[in-house]
Amino acid sequence: MASYDGLSTWLEIDLGAIAHNVQAMQKLADTRVMAVVKANGYGHGLVPAARSAVEAGAAYCGVARIDEAIEIRDGGVAAPVLVLGETPNSRMADATAHHISVTVYNQAQLDALAAAARSAGETVQVHVKVDTGMTRLGAEPHAAFGLLQALQTIPGVKVEGLFTHFARADEPSAASTDKQAALFDDLLGEVTSAGLRPPLVHTANSAAALTRPSARFDMVRPGIAIYGLNPSEEVRVPEDFRPALVWKARLTTVREVPAGTGVSYGHRYVTPKDERLGVIPVGYGDGFRREPGARVLIHGRWAPVVGRVCMDQTIINLDDVPDAATGDEVVIVGRQGDEGLRPGDLAEVWGTVGYEVVCGLSARVPRLYQS
Ligand SMILES: *Cc1c(COP(=O)(O)O)cnc(C)c1O
Repeated sequence: MASYDGLSTWLEIDLGAIAHNVQAMQKLADTRVMAVVKANGYGHGLVPAARSAVEAGAAYCGVARIDEAIEIRDGGVAAPVLVLGETPNSRMADATAHHISVTVYNQAQLDALAAAARSAGETVQVHVKVDTGMTRLGAEPHAAFGLLQALQTIPGVKVEGLFTHFARADEPSAASTDKQAALFDDLLGEVTSAGLRPPLVHTANSAAALTRPSARFDMVRPGIAIYGLNPSEEVRVPEDFRPALVWKARLTTVREVPAGTGVSYGHRYVTPKDERLGVIPVGYGDGFRREPGARVLIHGRWAPVVGRVCMDQTIINLDDVPDAATGDEVVIVGRQGDEGLRPGDLAEVWGTVGYEVVCGLSARVPRLYQS
């Protein structure tokens, strides 16, 4: 691993954990894995995450936008890549040139696909997306059949996949997931009878891959789980999945202040007694939110945030860590001693989900990789 000497705050990313989680998911789901690495690999780094997942056996990488797919190609990953979101028609040729598969969901995309196939003289691989109840991207189930038929007639276009996405897979008791699955199964039945079933049918994000064997089909599309994180409090990854990311910082200042001292912007915190305070060089500019209530670990003990989180610095109370000193290692996400906190714990404090915590880790926080 690269040295963290001289860094104020950094992320330690265990690529071996991502590889391990991909294999654990493959074993559990007993089908192909599309490693979803959009949004900078959920903060872990787009190309490193993609590379590790593919080396571990992922059959496919999934991203949200074509520029993410091209970055993966430029990073030397040759495995199939699917753009799960919209690809602008003006970029279809770009996708083809980079051997990137695109998502198709309406007839207005067909001309651009035909033109891309013609100009590249290569096969364009597409996956048809069906909206079964997410109410976001995708053809209505009745339109999807016509779309699949129309795609057969376009020279140079190959339909490789058919997929949908669940809105509530992270709530295992949600009946709407059964309804979405039933709509999809009906469509798949018709498509299969008509001889139009593509080789890769896929519906399951991490939560569905973990909880719904019937949703696994030819491939599952886990994102959050390959980083070792839970889709929700209700749907957790198995014990053997390993979190891949640790967020650390160094304590920059330790000082004693008297009772009645105003702390940080707005003096929203005024020390009720004599206190030992510390400063960590981490703030909302790094993805550490401004909302109050978070705490960090030093020497395996909790130090609560006091006063407002600033852009680049945060003040913490060290009353429970009497021996804390300047330069000590602070853990913001990860384990230290017998304690630990996950992105999901910070998310609870901040009123969001662990996904947003890791995706919000800003570019300026150095990523140190270990394999
Ligand atoms: C982001 C995304 C996924 C991965 O979801 P997780 O909950 O992180 O597993 C899968 N499929 C699609 C279409 C997505 O947009």
